[in-house]
Amino acid sequence: ATGTNIKTFFEGSWHDADVPIMRAADHGAWLGTTVFDGARYVDGLAPDLMAHCERVVASARALMLHPAQTPQEIHDIVWDGVKRYPDGTPVYIRPMFWGIDGGALGILPAETPAGFCVSLEEIPMADPNKTVRLTTTQFRRPVLADNVCNAKAGCLYPNNARMLAEAMSKGYDNALVADAMGNVAESASANVFMVRDGTVYTPIPNGTFLPGITRKRHIDLLRADGHQVVETVLTFDDFRAADEVFLTGNLNKVTPVSEFDGTHYQHGAVAKRAYELYWDWARTTA
Ligand code: PMP
Repeated sequence: ATGTNIKTFFEGSWHDADVPIMRAADHGAWLGTTVFDGARYVDGLAPDLMAHCERVVASARALMLHPAQTPQEIHDIVWDGVKRYPDGTPVYIRPMFWGIDGGALGILPAETPAGFCVSLEEIPMADPNKTVRLTTTQFRRPVLADNVCNAKAGCLYPNNARMLAEAMSKGYDNALVADAMGNVAESASANVFMVRDGTVYTPIPNGTFLPGITRKRHIDLLRADGHQVVETVLTFDDFRAADEVFLTGNLNKVTPVSEFDGTHYQHGAVAKRAYELYWDWARTTA
């Protein structure tokens, strides 16, 4: 859908939903002014959907775009779309805004409403018992003075792609990524938690990495469940000394980590409990 109140559903593979390159995706495609978000629809539930709709609008503004759709309008478009799937289909929801060229091929996007669409795609949830192996990467998260780290912007992701490619070339699934100071920030695609002596720790947001919506939800749920959760500066050595490590993100919610560069972890009690707490909360509130 582009423009306020225009809703066009394209049913088919999203690869086939053509966008005229010099009209709709111009500034976004040439100069990287795209923002997106990701959310889930599983068993009739879309946990924290409104927070994801709010974030994609905030991300657009951070890139000086002019989003015409409100979070509530995006939320409604998503519900109209997901209801078209047969019950029980696991759907991945991706709203997106992109910059429109102002007519002079300039660096600034036009002050007209940004391009907008939502992609819905059937993507199964990963098995919650499937673990991943992490390694280090030479590539770091930028700071706000380098790039728009306060947005979920497409232009940040080629850097994450090279983190992931480097980790995979070493035979691992993902990277544990440093911030500009060399402390642990997140993985290339999700936030990270560690457990030591029963206390849960996660890097404190410092403007360099995405303070995830799923991360915040898990902090609140674990605290309400009686766990001590500390947001603080964490080093790679802290992760080497951890009893348990797990990732959080909207795609698969909680992903247990089995190894960081030769240090092995159990699929621990906290990650299992976090996954249960999340879906219990979603069933009663989302
Ligand atoms: N960090 C990065 C780099 C991500 O791509 C994601 C997934 N959006 C996350 C963290 C997790 O954020 P959220 O829980 O809001 O999906």
